[in-house]
Amino acid sequence: MLDWGALEVGLTRRNFLRTAAAAAIRSSPPARLPVPIHRVMDARAQCPPEQVHHFWSSIWPEAVRDFSRGGMELRTSDGPGEVRRSPGDKPIFIGLRRGVINLVLTGHIPMRWDNGRALAGVTTIYDGYPVCLIALRYAHGNQAPFLSVNTCVHELLHALLQDIFVSRPKWYQTGAREFRIDWYATGLWLFHDGAAVRNSAQACFARLHSADAARTNAAK
Ligand SMILES: [Zn+2]
Repeated sequence: MLDWGALEVGLTRRNFLRTAAAAAIRSSPPARLPVPIHRVMDARAQCPPEQVHHFWSSIWPEAVRDFSRGGMELRTSDGPGEVRRSPGDKPIFIGLRRGVINLVLTGHIPMRWDNGRALAGVTTIYDGYPVCLIALRYAHGNQAPFLSVNTCVHELLHALLQDIFVSRPKWYQTGAREFRIDWYATGLWLFHDGAAVRNSAQACFARLHSADAARTNAAK
């Protein structure tokens, strides 16, 4: 004998589960773009512990949150390294990795790059490695939309928005590029809008990987 009641419950339950599964698929957030970051604390950095603490307890978590709200997940690795200064104060980086953005934390930006401007950060390509160099002494969190944003977000955007591939004249001296960076940083911070940054970040890593592959082939 067929238990119509049980069958009905079973069907209803199955329908419910199917509907719930469909709803879960619909409501799940879109896949977030992983952004690989290799963090290096400059072993030669001279900065007070409270500046290091401020960075890790406030500035870095804010950067992670801003990128996360824009659909990007900062995937970090950590390793030893240092910034050696040549006699001409040209920085020499030790401990960088390929295919990722190297976030190097130091006390202050070498004079050769800083030119007395008390910069909180500089981003460039060094020997094929993308490097965001952060001066802990001057680094800060979000302060004013479009004008003064989180130092980590600002510098990482110079890499992800591909300013690092722009050749001379020095891009970091041009106000238009600075404003563009702070515009997108404010979009992440206040409007949780990361669509354009995500697209550019994918293109950025594709360019880095193809450059690394070409370098590996040339070395064979
Ligand atoms: Zn900048």
